[in-house]
Amino acid sequence: MSYDAELMQEIRRSVAVLCARYGETYWQKLDENQEYPTQFVAEMTEAGFLTALIPEEYGGMGLGIRHACGILEELSLNGAHPGACHAQMYVMGSLLRHGSVQQKQEYLPKIASGELRLQSFGVTEPTTGSDTTKLRTFAAKVDGGFNIKGQKVWISRVQHSDLMVVLARTTPIDECNKKTHGLSAFIVDLNVSVDNGLTVKPIKAMINHHACELFFDDLFVPEANLLGRLDEGFKVILDGMNAERILIAAECIGDARYFIDKATRYAKEREVFGRPIGANQGVQFPLAKTFAQTQAASLMVDDAADRFDAGESCGIQANMAKLLAAEASWAAGDACMQTHGGFSFSREYHIERKFRETRLYQIAPISTNLILSYIAERELGLPRSY
Ligand SMILES: Cc1cc2nc3c(=O)[nH]c(=O)nc-3n(C[C@H](O)[C@H](O)[C@H](O)COP(=O)(O)OP(=O)(O)OC[C@H]3O[C@@H](n4cnc5c(N)ncnc54)[C@H](O)[C@@H]3O)c2cc1C
Repeated sequence: MSYDAELMQEIRRSVAVLCARYGETYWQKLDENQEYPTQFVAEMTEAGFLTALIPEEYGGMGLGIRHACGILEELSLNGAHPGACHAQMYVMGSLLRHGSVQQKQEYLPKIASGELRLQSFGVTEPTTGSDTTKLRTFAAKVDGGFNIKGQKVWISRVQHSDLMVVLARTTPIDECNKKTHGLSAFIVDLNVSVDNGLTVKPIKAMINHHACELFFDDLFVPEANLLGRLDEGFKVILDGMNAERILIAAECIGDARYFIDKATRYAKEREVFGRPIGANQGVQFPLAKTFAQTQAASLMVDDAADRFDAGESCGIQANMAKLLAAEASWAAGDACMQTHGGFSFSREYHIERKFRETRLYQIAPISTNLILSYIAERELGLPRSY
């Protein structure tokens, strides 16, 4: 669907109204107790926002990613934590593009109605990290399906999902012509797998992201749950990654605008030495600079989203959008902290929570260095550095 600015305004207004009903204290309490925003996510689902990218024929809103970006940006802008539910939007993309007709008919309408939550995406492993093709989790072919053995780390929202897409090796790397070959993607039904071949161990972390360690101990996955072709799972995962990067970049834009707005209001109100602190250039300039950075990053996000929606290749734009937006949100968070002085450390102001949350995006879903390597190699033609 092409971008409709009027519809976007309407959607943004509705998202803002929903967020206002919860307020920032809701998020602060969840963060303190490391709890999941069950009620908020249920309302987001019921209102249809998390189904933005699911085609209408399966019960979704059938919108483009540019609209989905607006929804996530609005959440961040209003002090909410989209990390709790953003994956319900994009993990389904792998299913939509690579699932069989049967898989799509079985899962997509239930994902759209909220009956099934597909919020987990299991790629990262403790020993191999960013070097994805070297992952060691292995799915061995057995009668009627596969037995998965291995370990994952930092897999988000597993305890708040019914389904998870997992990447595992199905052919040893030394038997493949290309290292991206021999990996396969599977849909894991968490309701039957947990404590039945799959052990889930939550990780206590700096932010309330519900990430877990996963231990696969001969977990049986039926043949029907293979997503895409055998040994071609890297493509299934890669396709979903561009959507993930664009959407997360939009969240960063929301965070940046949240910080800039908060800091600007405070700089006008707070008086020290008999005048508003915002009258000092030392306070103004970091805010002005990060405002310019955010506007530029936002244009990059729109460009990546428009290309994605037009079905054009957008890997480089998606990566640059994520890089620039994550840098803008981090710079804006830093400027907001500095503007608030000592009060920025008080939980009451919510800044420190957002500051911790937005820091993640320099590291996940892909770290800044890996994006820079990608740009250097693909766009500048420089030698591969790793
Ligand atoms: C809260 C949270 C939630 C997450 N959720 C998920 C999830 O749901 N699913 C999932 O699969 N993963 C998830 N992740 C994992 C995340 O995607 C990884 O942490 C990230 O991709 C980086 O991998 P790593 O931590 O293994 O770092 P490493 O790969 O060990 O890298 C460590 C550092 O070294 C740098 N580095 C490594 N190699 C190079 C190189 N060649 N050149 C330059 N620098 C290099 C990296 O940039 C990084 O800064 C999550 C992580 C966190 C913290």
